[in-house]
Amino acid sequence: MKKILDVLIVGGGPIGLACGIACEKANINYVIVEKGVLTNSLFNYPLNMTFFSTSDKLEMGGIPFMSISHKPTRTEALEYYRRVFQQWKLKVNLYEEVKTLQKNVDGIFEINTSKQTYLAHNIILATGFYDLPNLMNVPGEELPKVSHYYKEPWPYIGQKVLVVGGANSAVDVALEIWRKGGHVTMALKGDGIDANVKYWVKPDIENRIKEGSIKAYTNCLVKEIREKEVVLDTPTGEVTIPNDFVFAMTGYVPNFALLDQLGVELSLDEKRQPCYDPSNQESNIPGVYLAGVVCGGLNTREFFIENSIIHAEQIVNHILGKSLADSSD
Ligand SMILES: Cc1cc2nc3c(=O)[nH]c(=O)nc-3n(C[C@H](O)[C@H](O)[C@H](O)COP(=O)(O)OP(=O)(O)OC[C@H]3O[C@@H](n4cnc5c(N)ncnc54)[C@H](O)[C@@H]3O)c2cc1C
Repeated sequence: MKKILDVLIVGGGPIGLACGIACEKANINYVIVEKGVLTNSLFNYPLNMTFFSTSDKLEMGGIPFMSISHKPTRTEALEYYRRVFQQWKLKVNLYEEVKTLQKNVDGIFEINTSKQTYLAHNIILATGFYDLPNLMNVPGEELPKVSHYYKEPWPYIGQKVLVVGGANSAVDVALEIWRKGGHVTMALKGDGIDANVKYWVKPDIENRIKEGSIKAYTNCLVKEIREKEVVLDTPTGEVTIPNDFVFAMTGYVPNFALLDQLGVELSLDEKRQPCYDPSNQESNIPGVYLAGVVCGGLNTREFFIENSIIHAEQIVNHILGKSLADSSD
């Protein structure tokens, strides 16, 4: 008969790893299934990114996070979480995507991945939000020159680049490309740069805009993207500008498909926040837990690594509590 895991964790991001550590500490039998590389989202972040958190805030499992500066880089974070994985001997199956999940009549979950089937008493969904971009849904968005992910500035030297969005990612992209000699225009939906852009970066971008080094259109929406130009909808009418590349840094949305399959309800407001008890992270489906950034629904800024690590202990304590209650029945 197939072994039944106590817990199957979907997602090998920082929070999935924290859940694995909590299971190790509690001697609970678990597996983490990750569709990509270890900490796949971090791996896909811009090559030169620096975290806004100080390294101590990203620590887990009692392993100190040393970084050269007080805020770590992407590479330092990748190395840190690799060390965490190695030190705790976490059971992570990489390059394996969870495709379907269901609760069988006997109350056991059946999880089908790209490689095998698992059975588990509990599921933790720690699937993050970085896989699906928040699309603009405008003509031309599918052109190869348009991207929702950014790596590095070198391909854009001397190129006309439109950066859509005014939050942290957009600002970092605009400044980095401009500093390497790209001609950057920003399309800002609101009146200016977002209020919660990192306080040490905001004056930099605002001054570049003020001095005219970076052109910014405010209260502006992208209307159409063409091979060699983009059409912007601005308060003074339609503006067409020459263009080589577009970075649509318009955010990302969690993949609700896995939640839907399990019957996890979402709030009816614009946040579409999954239904769960914040004291133990259990969703409206008993045995299905939510951890990490996925908990915020479309409000992807509500949870981040720093404030989600705590989910791991909350969930495992609840699972342990249930087992004790069962054994005393
Ligand atoms: C540029 C940038 C900078 C940031 N800086 C900070 C910071 O300084 N401090 C901070 O606290 N937060 C920061 N964040 C946010 C932080 O990175 C995320 O909150 C964090 O990654 C959330 O961790 P997570 O484990 O919940 O999700 P993720 O890291 O997104 O992990 C989810 C994992 O699930 C996997 N997955 C998804 N679907 C499946 C499936 N069907 N089957 C198997 N695996 C699946 C994904 O591949 C991924 O590896 C930053 C984010 C960005 C974009």
